[in-house]
Amino acid sequence: LDQATPQTKLFNKQPLQDKPVYTRSVKQVIKDKLDAMSTQKWELDQENAFFVGDLGEVYRQHLRWKALLPRIEPFFAVKSNPDPMVVKLLASLGIGFDCASKSEIQQVLSSGVESSRIIYANPCKQASFIRFAAQNNVARMTFDNAEELYKIKKLYPNAELLVRILTDDSKSLCQLGLKFGAPLDTVKDLLQTAKELNLNVVGVSFHVGSGCLDENSFADAVVRARWAFDQGEAMGFKFNMLDVGGGFPSGDVTDGITFEKIAAVLGPAVDAMFPSDVRVIAEPGRYYVASAFTVCTHVIGRRTVVTEENETQYMYYVNDGMYGSFNCILFDHQVVHPKVLSRGGNLTFDDKNDDIAINGDERTFNSSIWGPTCDSIDCLAKEANLPVLNDGDWIYWENMGAYTICAASKFNGFKQPEVIYTNTFE
Ligand code: PLP
Repeated sequence: LDQATPQTKLFNKQPLQDKPVYTRSVKQVIKDKLDAMSTQKWELDQENAFFVGDLGEVYRQHLRWKALLPRIEPFFAVKSNPDPMVVKLLASLGIGFDCASKSEIQQVLSSGVESSRIIYANPCKQASFIRFAAQNNVARMTFDNAEELYKIKKLYPNAELLVRILTDDSKSLCQLGLKFGAPLDTVKDLLQTAKELNLNVVGVSFHVGSGCLDENSFADAVVRARWAFDQGEAMGFKFNMLDVGGGFPSGDVTDGITFEKIAAVLGPAVDAMFPSDVRVIAEPGRYYVASAFTVCTHVIGRRTVVTEENETQYMYYVNDGMYGSFNCILFDHQVVHPKVLSRGGNLTFDDKNDDIAINGDERTFNSSIWGPTCDSIDCLAKEANLPVLNDGDWIYWENMGAYTICAASKFNGFKQPEVIYTNTFE
């Protein structure tokens, strides 16, 4: 790849110069990378899988948030993708951060974010992490059980606490309520304990589950949060913050749910039930990053299978898998979609970035795609209808920015793909 354009106005406030950022379309960056690879014959690592991260898409998502939910302040959930360039971009835009651990807090602080822009939103925290939060004035944190309150009393008695309540997460891909959230019938007792310990509870938080498919889950959760607010206020707490959590969909339309639908329900529900002096925040993760990352994988092997019915099928092996970025299939309940990127050294999209239809007469085959490890769970697509691919061809996968890189392992000695950055915002 040749020189990246160093800066764009998007990053004026805080330069992001530690990595090059291109200003080309994602497909153009992919094309340039493949071209560069093909001229570096016999280079080590030449066929490695790679990501293209589009910071402009992250920024577009941010603008969309501001337009549709202007009252609700986003605190980016770092866990979804702690990519340093994403964190720095969002830091430069002035938004807040939801951190789950000491190292996420460290990363955000070292990106120049003040402690007041962080919420430590993990209801069960390691003691030393609470001490670290106290030393760094990261005061805002969540709890959902009495034991956590005793711990916080000992380690950070001035913390500003939000009680995380249980909501209906039955319409979400990842149901967090199995593990977190105080059932409403325990909320009064919890608040009573906080009162007796003289702790500072400042509000209520919830999470409708990640990958929420029903906007009404948010409306229902807001009603529950109002009830919890009323309990706190009746006990003499001065609640001033509502945290509506994460669960917002990616930029890509998934299963019919859209950010627009959620915003149309959530915004009015919050306005109807919470006066304007209540600060309302959210913890979107997937929303900001999912559609911003594309991963390109190399076909490293192929197996031809002839079924009992005499049908020819192909098994393709690619160099990122379930133990790497595609862990999202297992942990995040995602279905991923392979697209052919290049065959025999020729790209399958044109200069306008349009996908070139695979030759209409060309035969396609029932194919499966597998990751590179020696484990048979490592299957990325069981039934893909593809033309014949060969060793050395490339397959790309869009919408791979959330809960992918961050949870990848090095199982079987495979490295995580590098990320090449571009900014498609004009
Ligand atoms: N906040 C908390 C406490 C979470 O556990 C999660 C995800 O697990 C998020 C926010 C981000 O959720 P999402 O990526 O669905 O927006």
